Amino acid sequence: MKLTDFDGEEPEEEKETLEDKLKDKDLQEVVDMIANCEKCRLHENRTNPVPGEGPENAAIMLIGEGPGENEDEQGRPFVGSAGKKLDECLEKAGINREKIFISNTVKCRPPDNRDPYRDELRACHPYTERIVEIIDPKVIGLLGRVPTKRFLGKESITKVRGQKIENNGRVYIPMFHPAALRYKASREEQLVKDLRTLLDQI
Ligand code: SF4
Repeated sequence: MKLTDFDGEEPEEEKETLEDKLKDKDLQEVVDMIANCEKCRLHENRTNPVPGEGPENAAIMLIGEGPGENEDEQGRPFVGSAGKKLDECLEKAGINREKIFISNTVKCRPPDNRDPYRDELRACHPYTERIVEIIDPKVIGLLGRVPTKRFLGKESITKVRGQKIENNGRVYIPMFHPAALRYKASREEQLVKDLRTLLDQI
């Protein structure tokens, strides 16, 4: 009689990853999952998660860093002072905000507006990826250093801003975060220019 190879405990059933769980989910289901998410410490202090907003068939998507105080209160992206600046720049670039989809690398507000930690970015990334998959935009604008590092592995926003960069079959254009415009007036012009480049791709 052949002895069995197995001589111990039954192997643990393979755990279903967040990516597995998200695979067939539609946008509303992803939004619902985010609302109940406790995958990282940022859920502890959130008032409202901010999954993102915009039409599901948007050709342009913008991805920022994370919700601030106003966003946390309203559950909507870019509604505070940076959002106001973004709206102005979108208007100058000839882009209608209603027609684009806007989200963030983390969906819950980091305390005191600190940068999201690496483990928080990693934890939230499957949601962003699934949202990108569902929206399937022609081009994605990365607003600032955090999403640029997350999606393209580039450390310096100033070196890559305005460039069209292809990665995994998607087209990205890194650009300044609207909150960074207050440090240098010339950055506003650059953001408008980069938003126009975004528009040229569709
Ligand atoms: S930031 Fe993302 S991963 Fe963290 S709790 Fe919120 S939804 Fe979940």
